[in-house]
Amino acid sequence: MNIALIAHDQKKDEMVQFAVAFEPILKDHRLFSTGTTGKRVMNETNLQVHRYQSGPMGGDQQIGAMIAVNEMDLVLFFKDPLTAQPHEPDISALIRLCDVYKVPLATNIATGEILLKGLERGDLSWRNVIEKKDGTKDD
Ligand code: PGA
Repeated sequence: MNIALIAHDQKKDEMVQFAVAFEPILKDHRLFSTGTTGKRVMNETNLQVHRYQSGPMGGDQQIGAMIAVNEMDLVLFFKDPLTAQPHEPDISALIRLCDVYKVPLATNIATGEILLKGLERGDLSWRNVIEKKDGTKDD
């Protein structure tokens, strides 16, 4: 499955801890991220991550574009609710698209843990039957 990893600055340490803890699960999937989040995760794990632009520079929108063509299966977006973000409209748009396309979304580490445990158990296998834009189905 295609999984997005995004963390605001105050949540990047949590994202790294999360990626380390769940590396055995995450390594079996294709990972995408905003710029700095992906850099941190790749530096501190053995995971390979396709990095888009940094969030404020359009990275959230690039991940949103994947959602809009049904190429994203799970979004882990650890938001900082206590700091104003310059790209708030992009954040809202990304969350909205998750709801439009029924993409499972975690906005904090606690929900992220539940989603990854569900992923491991096969609870998200319904995503496998969704036709991707290129006509393929996920593995
Ligand atoms: P970053 O972007 O991973 O490049 O920091 C995340 C964000 O702030 O939306």
